[in-house]
Amino acid sequence: MTTFDLRTLRIRSGDQAGERVEIEVEPLALAGQAYEPKPNPAPAELTVTRASSGAVLELALDVALQGPCFRCLQDAELPLQLRLREYQATKPDSEEERTEYLEDDRLDLSAWAHDAIALALPDKILCRPDCAGLCPVCGKDLNAEPHEHVEERTDPRWAKLSELQQKEA
Ligand SMILES: [Zn+2]
Ligand SMILES: [Zn+2]
Repeated sequence: MTTFDLRTLRIRSGDQAGERVEIEVEPLALAGQAYEPKPNPAPAELTVTRASSGAVLELALDVALQGPCFRCLQDAELPLQLRLREYQATKPDSEEERTEYLEDDRLDLSAWAHDAIALALPDKILCRPDCAGLCPVCGKDLNAEPHEHVEERTDPRWAKLSELQQKEA
């Protein structure tokens, strides 16, 4: 878990400070599969702007998620460019005026990044937008081996005949 102590920035009201950080991010679950953030820890830029009324916290995070393609199960990668913003009032009057990621000047970067990635996730992660997926009949990868199965027609009369033949044999 990566946290950042805002007191180390030593900024006064009206000042802005930026800091390069590396954030450890927990793997994310989507459609029953685990997706690993790459790189992990992920490099990010934290910017804090302080006013007398409060502080604006901004986080620029570029990270990719790696895991199985929703359709063909091959490796897939989803690049994300997150530009996040939180606000913490000096004397918060309501929940909207405080960020849940800040406690006693310690900013929980891992939780912030994880929640933001979870919100940015699509319904499914694909290896490519037009992934053909796996064949529902034989399970082979249709990207590598495009094919169709001709439906096997069974005539009831032939079925009866082969049944008789099997009895004779
Ligand atoms: Zn795929
Ligand atoms: Zn097939």
